[in-house]
Amino acid sequence: MIEKYELKLLELTDKLNSYFDDQKDFIKCEPGCGICCSNGYYPLFELEYKYIKKGFELNFSKEKIKALQDKACQIYKDRYNFLKNDDNIHNFSYVCPFLENNMCSNYLHRPIICRAYGLISRDAKNPETKVHFPHCVRLGLNYSDVWSFEEKSFSEDKMKALGIKTEPKFYDVSYANLIEPFRDLDLGDVRMIFEWIIMDMPDYEAVTVKLKA
Ligand code: SF4
Repeated sequence: MIEKYELKLLELTDKLNSYFDDQKDFIKCEPGCGICCSNGYYPLFELEYKYIKKGFELNFSKEKIKALQDKACQIYKDRYNFLKNDDNIHNFSYVCPFLENNMCSNYLHRPIICRAYGLISRDAKNPETKVHFPHCVRLGLNYSDVWSFEEKSFSEDKMKALGIKTEPKFYDVSYANLIEPFRDLDLGDVRMIFEWIIMDMPDYEAVTVKLKA
């Protein structure tokens, strides 16, 4: 199953890379940025986690795996405390436990959703009327040279001044769309990345009881 997943993942990554290539006039992603990995939910299916695990079991030392588990436990505890004052679980975001020095420590085995960070995504439910910009557009990065939030449009004048001839594009890269080609595999449940790491610990139940104390 992992092998089939890996093949589909390669196909998807090629497709996404072609989108990034097409939009390169607007994209400022570079190693050492880490903004997309510092404030999110990072949902993944169980099969994705198995692939991620293959990566860190191959490449991480025991100490590094322990440090990863410690980070996941801290996020669990932070979320537990957060939910005491806010019952909307979607209001809780966190730094991905794989982020180290603003780089992904498991890059080659990163989840599906991470591979589309930086593009403009059409909303899964309202693809014709709603889009999601990468968070960094507000930080002077992707698309920020040409997008105006006040006017809610791309500035043709700015595009001309910058000599950009590429059309800015919106892509169907919501998680729901990205996962579609994988639906014929046994994907399992979906959970946040830190939850999978904790649930994989041998003393999972005792750990979570302790974290809630
Ligand atoms: S798995 Fe890697 S690419 Fe994905 S959010 Fe975490 S650090 Fe970023």
